[in-house]
Amino acid sequence: MRKVHLDKSGSGFSFKSACGRNMLRTVISANWAEFKKEKTEHQCDKCAASKQAEFNTRTDAKKLLVNVA
Ligand SMILES: [Zn+2]
Repeated sequence: MRKVHLDKSGSGFSFKSACGRNMLRTVISANWAEFKKEKTEHQCDKCAASKQAEFNTRTDAKKLLVNVA
């Protein structure tokens, strides 16, 4: 089954997914906005549980709060 990884940082040879994979070896990856839209079963478990995902979720929550206020 295909798995989508969450983009984290870097570019080119140093590019990494949130679960620590080197992107050169990772076929499918997406930025946070795209990653969120994927069905849970298609998301990489490690990426979904990563600090990066946690941070992005918190950032989203803050944005929501700003929009409500
Ligand atoms: Zn991953």
